[in-house]
Amino acid sequence: MVQHSDFDDPNTREVIVVGGGIAGLSAAIYLGRAQRDTLVIDSGHSMAKWEPVVENYLGFPKGVAGEKLLKNGRRQAKKHEVRFAEDEITSVSSGKSVFVLKGKRTYRTRRLLLATGISHLPPEIPGVRECLGHSMFFCKDCDGYRVRGKRIAIIGSNNEAVEYALGMLHYSACVIVATNGKRPSWDKRHARWLAEYEIPIERKRIRDVDHRKRKIRALDFVGGACFKIDYLFTTRGDIFHTGLAEKLGAKLDSDGQIKVDQCMRTSVPRLYAAGCVTPANCQMIIAAGQGAAAAQAINRDLLEESLAMHSLRRFRAAQIDEEKTIPEEAKMSRKARKK
Ligand SMILES: Cc1cc2nc3c(=O)[nH]c(=O)nc-3n(C[C@H](O)[C@H](O)[C@H](O)COP(=O)(O)OP(=O)(O)OC[C@H]3O[C@@H](n4cnc5c(N)ncnc54)[C@H](O)[C@@H]3O)c2cc1C
Repeated sequence: MVQHSDFDDPNTREVIVVGGGIAGLSAAIYLGRAQRDTLVIDSGHSMAKWEPVVENYLGFPKGVAGEKLLKNGRRQAKKHEVRFAEDEITSVSSGKSVFVLKGKRTYRTRRLLLATGISHLPPEIPGVRECLGHSMFFCKDCDGYRVRGKRIAIIGSNNEAVEYALGMLHYSACVIVATNGKRPSWDKRHARWLAEYEIPIERKRIRDVDHRKRKIRALDFVGGACFKIDYLFTTRGDIFHTGLAEKLGAKLDSDGQIKVDQCMRTSVPRLYAAGCVTPANCQMIIAAGQGAAAAQAINRDLLEESLAMHSLRRFRAAQIDEEKTIPEEAKMSRKARKK
């Protein structure tokens, strides 16, 4: 079968997706099914790996492991002939119509989708890393439901920590804010809410976290106080993986996320972004939806470009030369009619 990509520089992909997490894989499935020559480059640190049971993804009433979603997504994309490279892209530049990316190898592409995600900053307390995704969480929308009726501590000292604590009241009566020795930076309005809703605050530094088999049991504070706690939420902030976008001159918003339009186009022509690295609410199903939207836009933009450059015309000419372009049945009946 004649491939449209046969008409381009064979060393240049039609599309490269940097990031093989939820957004990148969803885009890859759409691009593969749109017959676009697509390569996904991934360094293997999707946040989805941290979630043992995703309960809010459509179609899995019993939940699904984040790892499994990634594995299945990759398999689904490979089925549609998407290729994968394990690599970390460290630099990128843009020519007139091609992006050049460098990692362990060099890659060239006509369209670039950044689905590089974010990393949540862990709390500044030792020894709780193994509780991540089990009894220590970053996201009330992902995990609030599963901690209903439990004892919850919110670690943080800013407005966001207060908003987390207020949001958690829907799930549990037993919510405290622990500033871990930091001076609160929440504003007066947020301080008033803490008082109005009678949410206890512990300002001492956390000396130790008692946990066993990934389950948090208690927080020990300097000075001797000890609170029995079942779950910890932390609000230290996020690192947005926007380095490549910034190198290409893409605009970021005031929070440091890549600005995109409704079709996931950035401010740089031919550059798209999807998932948590954009201002989207950082949820798997939203990342998947954005990946699909980006892929649709890329496919449309490539079609328009091939019409403008007449490469679709050359493709069609080769197709007419080499392939049956009218269904066999129709040809047969035409021949029969002529007789
Ligand atoms: C503990 C935890 C629990 C969560 N639970 C839920 C939940 O229950 N439900 C829910 O909806 N969401 C949950 N989330 C959030 C969910 O994981 C994210 O919404 C989702 O993974 C975002 O998808 P993404 O594609 O934007 O980023 P990611 O899935 O994080 O993928 C980004 C990918 O880009 C790659 N990458 C980055 N930079 C480069 C580079 N320079 N070169 C090559 N590759 C690169 C990374 O290695 C990674 O694989 C949870 C997150 C955490 C941390």
